[in-house]
Amino acid sequence: MLRSAIALLLTAGLQAQAPLADTYRPAADKLMKQATDEGARHAYDALEYLSDDIGHRISGSKELVRAEDWAAEQMKAAGLQNVHFEEAPVPHWVRGAESCELLTQQAGPLDMIGLGGSVGTPKEGLTADVVAVGSFAEFAKLPDSAVKGKIVLFDAPYEGYGRTVMYRYAGASTAAKKGAIACLIRTVGSASLGNPHTGAMAYEAGVPQIPTAALSIEDASRLHRLCAKGETVRVRLKMDAKMLGTTTGRNVIGEIPGSEKPNEIVILSGHLDSWDVGQGAQDDGIGALLSLESARSMIKAGLHPKRTVRVILWTCEEWGGFGAKAYAAAHKAESPNIVAAFESDSGNGRIQGFSVDLHGEESGPGEGKGGSDADRKAVALMDSIAPLLPEGARKMRAGESGEDVGFFIPNGGVGIGVGHDASRYFDVHHSKADAFYHINLDDLRYNLQAYSVMAYVLADMPEKLK
Ligand SMILES: [Zn+2]
Repeated sequence: MLRSAIALLLTAGLQAQAPLADTYRPAADKLMKQATDEGARHAYDALEYLSDDIGHRISGSKELVRAEDWAAEQMKAAGLQNVHFEEAPVPHWVRGAESCELLTQQAGPLDMIGLGGSVGTPKEGLTADVVAVGSFAEFAKLPDSAVKGKIVLFDAPYEGYGRTVMYRYAGASTAAKKGAIACLIRTVGSASLGNPHTGAMAYEAGVPQIPTAALSIEDASRLHRLCAKGETVRVRLKMDAKMLGTTTGRNVIGEIPGSEKPNEIVILSGHLDSWDVGQGAQDDGIGALLSLESARSMIKAGLHPKRTVRVILWTCEEWGGFGAKAYAAAHKAESPNIVAAFESDSGNGRIQGFSVDLHGEESGPGEGKGGSDADRKAVALMDSIAPLLPEGARKMRAGESGEDVGFFIPNGGVGIGVGHDASRYFDVHHSKADAFYHINLDDLRYNLQAYSVMAYVLADMPEKLK
């Protein structure tokens, strides 16, 4: 009698502490099957429409307005509730016509693209000799007299996005401080094949604003070689770009209200805006639709998480998270209840794992610190979910999450970075080559399995990461 009572108690105790992976195996199986049967294909077809029928979607464009309206309809069709928009002020910049022409040596047009936020040139363009350097350090050694009235070219080799993007952000003001009249950079990308990449730049206050553009790796290195031989290299840069001011963007939001803890929230997010070239398929149509499809998968699989799952498709990430910043400010009081805010914004490479971000900015760019007890506890919990994910997607760590969800963290929210294999992402990012053609359906299926399972378990399990 006593022995069987003890045995019963022991069994009950063991059940209460059953590993998360055992508890959630049946739900994970359903989500895996949903991704395989229909979910991945559904997201793939939706991305094809977003890419081919709507196209690229820079803030302030009519395409972004269409995409926002379309995304809200997609959410309703998926069965999400409380579908609505929340507005944010966003910059409105237009590129206009642009060109850069080499006037010396093998004269002719160069492969160029203006950088987002750049001012334009006079109508007739700016014509000047080029001063080429390989780094900021090399540029710092030049006397002002060598730069004044010239067009500076920073031909900096790609050393990873986080490091090299500084030339895109800060090249123009750095060059202008020594009297340059325009700034060219080697495109910030891991490959270019004659195809330069755009992206946001910024002017330093109090420094003259000069036009700035990226050249393909091939053309930037060609001009640099010619300059290094001491030859005169002369170019004409023409850009009609202008900042028109501020307009209104809309974050698109829909949710699955939690069955038991509706005030606790798991956010699944990506951004709907893109640059004004290519199709914004990798950056970040796929992240937006993967997030939406993960929530749809739960509904289709008949799973109803205890916490609220909220899908947010951000507006205007590309200029510095304008949509998310406004949203986080408006939802500050709610932030401590954001138990996990996912962001997928590095393409469709296979997910290798997830990072938990408890510190936001403090983690710094790249790898997070991850050394605290809180970090270790959160990673251990995520590790206990990992066996449910596809085998290559189980690397859990403390670290950065994302540009958009990072705004929740100072107010008590928890960020989750979706760790895609980004080894080919910066080949196409912010360029004409960011096209639907490069989206692989098998990879999308794999990613949907990993993302939907991770998101569901975090939205349903008894514990919280923090
Ligand atoms: Zn992005």
